[in-house]
Amino acid sequence: MKITSEQEMLSLGKDFANQFLKRVTVAEGDPHGACDMGEDNDRQDPLNIIELIGDVGAGKTTFVRGFAEGLGIKENITSPSFTISKTYALPNGKTLTHYDFYRLNDPGLMQEDLKESFENSNNITIIEWANSVEDLLPKDRTCISIKYNDDNSREVSIL
Ligand code: ADP
Ligand code: MG
Repeated sequence: MKITSEQEMLSLGKDFANQFLKRVTVAEGDPHGACDMGEDNDRQDPLNIIELIGDVGAGKTTFVRGFAEGLGIKENITSPSFTISKTYALPNGKTLTHYDFYRLNDPGLMQEDLKESFENSNNITIIEWANSVEDLLPKDRTCISIKYNDDNSREVSIL
């Protein structure tokens, strides 16, 4: 879908969170599609792990801000580029962990952290720049791709 402003991207994230809270399956069609690269460990609900794919400035963190707001998180979401990950509490007792692996070539110790995040069914994991941890990602995840259009709008696809 075409997203023409930051505000619309925030709304999209928020809508996504609302669908998410209602447990509506948002990934239609072949759920593995373009995401079919990770390990085949099927224990996770695909909606609990979201991978955001897109260049610098595409709007990944903006989407997360909307998503977090939709989940009822009051804290301001900032890019965790320097801290790699940040966890937020939801009003329903669950948690959201936001990762950004942009500056990480070797995931090292973060691998264990990430696995724990996946295995905790009360935690939602949302990841920017997952390339360096691609092998650790469960196959059952939702991938969202954000691409620039020439007119500065963004094309968002749920893969
Ligand atoms: P990323 O996390 O992908 O690097 P950010 O979400 O941090 O990107 O930044 C996206 C930037 O682009 C923000 O400054 C935002 O205001 C701007 N922007 C302009 N148009 C859009 C749009 N249609 N969707 C999302 N962001 C947009
Ligand atoms: Mg970002």
